[in-house]
Amino acid sequence: MSYQVLARKWRPRDFASLVGQEHVVRALRHALEHNRLHHAYLFTGTRGVGKTTLARILAKCLNCETGITAEPCGKCSACQEIDGGRFVDLLEVDAATNTRVDEMRQLLDTAQYAPTRGRFKVYVIDEVHMLSNSAFNAMLKTLEEPPEHLKFVLATTDPQRIPVTVLSRCLQFNLKQMPPAAVAEHLARLLKAEGVEFEQPALQLIGRAAAGSMRDALSLLDQAISHGAGRILAAGVRDMLGTVDQTYLLRLLEAIAEGDGAALMGIAGEMQARSLSFDAALQDLAGMLLKLALAHAVPDALETELPERERFLALAGRMDAESVQLCYQIALQGREDLALAPDEHAGFVMTLLRMLVFRPEHDAPRAAQPAAPAIRPRSASGGAVASGGFDGDWPELVRRLAVTGAARELARNSALARFAEGAIELTVPKAMAHLAERNYLDKLKAALEQHFGRAVVLKVGVGEAVNGTAAAIDAGEREARRADAAKAVQQDKFVQDLVDIFDAKVVGSTIKAGADKA
Ligand SMILES: [Zn+2]
Repeated sequence: MSYQVLARKWRPRDFASLVGQEHVVRALRHALEHNRLHHAYLFTGTRGVGKTTLARILAKCLNCETGITAEPCGKCSACQEIDGGRFVDLLEVDAATNTRVDEMRQLLDTAQYAPTRGRFKVYVIDEVHMLSNSAFNAMLKTLEEPPEHLKFVLATTDPQRIPVTVLSRCLQFNLKQMPPAAVAEHLARLLKAEGVEFEQPALQLIGRAAAGSMRDALSLLDQAISHGAGRILAAGVRDMLGTVDQTYLLRLLEAIAEGDGAALMGIAGEMQARSLSFDAALQDLAGMLLKLALAHAVPDALETELPERERFLALAGRMDAESVQLCYQIALQGREDLALAPDEHAGFVMTLLRMLVFRPEHDAPRAAQPAAPAIRPRSASGGAVASGGFDGDWPELVRRLAVTGAARELARNSALARFAEGAIELTVPKAMAHLAERNYLDKLKAALEQHFGRAVVLKVGVGEAVNGTAAAIDAGEREARRADAAKAVQQDKFVQDLVDIFDAKVVGSTIKAGADKA
């Protein structure tokens, strides 16, 4: 099998083989079958989605010797000449290279003459938005009073740059980008028909790399076949595309979940030794974190053909939803910072370290964090609060309450006004009055009752500035802990090594200490 064979052979030649554009095909079929033909069509969509392919199919539908049809025969001389790119009545113009008005006039002059071979003259103008204004004006005259035998098919990636006067005279169709899964599915069908051996994950890689363009997917597939000597294997395609093996990503995230900094650095080193693209790695890492977030929130939305599914689900079980969100943010930020980093490897390592060291507030402690001993949350030590009893230390009580979300915020931002056996009265500041809502009150009340093991009457009033809230105390402690953490990071051997190796500096404001939570 020689290079470029499949891309040519499998270019769609009729509506049935045009995958992913069913909505456009349905409308065009209907028009052709009911002979409701428009004289100008505009196909919009990103590059490679099949605009000119569709224009050629439409030209066959209009000129097939079997009659105007949605099912051109593909055998008559008109069909074959159109497929072969030598049909005299099909004119394809690339507006990107023919923008001048005299060229457009010349083209339009010939439009007045009857077709030589076919039923219709079909003018396909690709990248039509590149035409000059005067060229558009020249075209507009023909669009206003088109000869019976003339059909325009305009194609563009940028419909906003087409004058409204032209747009309003065209029947517009927007071609969709193909989702990677649909591309992979189509490639699988094609390879089965061709009897070419393949691994499904390889096709998913090609589908992603093609970014919505079937044309790109087909030419990548051809490359993959010649690269893999007739077989399409995931490792070979990864190699060809320079993409990162999913197992690297899994190992990285597993090391982060375990808090294993040494393993993390080892994997990053391996990746550098194999000259993998760290930018692509961060992109793919963000992609995998998205999947982890999906596994937590919408498990049904996960792809069924996930590579290493078991291992992935085990990882999802080890990382909580908030950590996944935070790591995702760090991955995106890391990509942005990559260009500013001393080198790509350093930028990548720093991004991984952020994932290792930082974690959301209210997060439970991770198993071990060798790189950041001081950032591990301290356990709540204060207040000898007898179980079930209450000594009036509301902020301490809040820390011990099993309550989350807005109800927790209500508790944290409230000060104790008075308390008695089985009754608690709180005050929230005006600025936080929205928290004193029935719903949150009920949740907080339930948490208090659970804590004390008895019924509690809870009242919340709105007041002026309130002192002694858990939130205010936390803010003060957090600043103190941040300072501690910053000092510890500066003194940490591992970080010092990094600073030496990469000539880096630790930016104090990026260091956050975890919040206490008992
Ligand atoms: Zn035909």
